[in-house]
Amino acid sequence: MQMRTGIGFDIHKFAEGRKLMLGGIKIPFSRGLLGHSDGDVLLHAVSDAILGAMGKPDIGYYFPDTDQNLEGIDSREIIKKAVSLMAKEKCAVGNIDAVIICEEPKLLPFFGRIRRSLSELTGAEEGRIGLKAKTLERLGDIGRGEACACIVSVLLTEN
Ligand code: MG
Repeated sequence: MQMRTGIGFDIHKFAEGRKLMLGGIKIPFSRGLLGHSDGDVLLHAVSDAILGAMGKPDIGYYFPDTDQNLEGIDSREIIKKAVSLMAKEKCAVGNIDAVIICEEPKLLPFFGRIRRSLSELTGAEEGRIGLKAKTLERLGDIGRGEACACIVSVLLTEN
């Protein structure tokens, strides 16, 4: 069996008056992530990791932030595009490992729902999706609660 790995990274600023979307799930919080899309930093990083493993350009190529029609786009549409490009080349997601970095909110209580959502979107088994939430110990911009970042690694299997 052939295998491919990919990495993804993304960061978005927190802003008032936005919904906080992570992994396709709405997380209750006083602020959300700013972006041309719904700002779902986790779905963006997973999408980029999948595209990277396929040797394809990143999500900005398929969903340019200069396209007015994409304003406020649901990031599930972005990851569905990455997954369909992957499936076209007869690849499947073997596993996903993600680190979400933000000072707050606490994300552990939502990991079950996020994992289920990622499993539905990517076809990866829930038991093969790793989720970790880290703070930056109050250091820097993320440590001041101004942004949320995400680092993702994926393994794709090729049939
Ligand atoms: Mg992004």
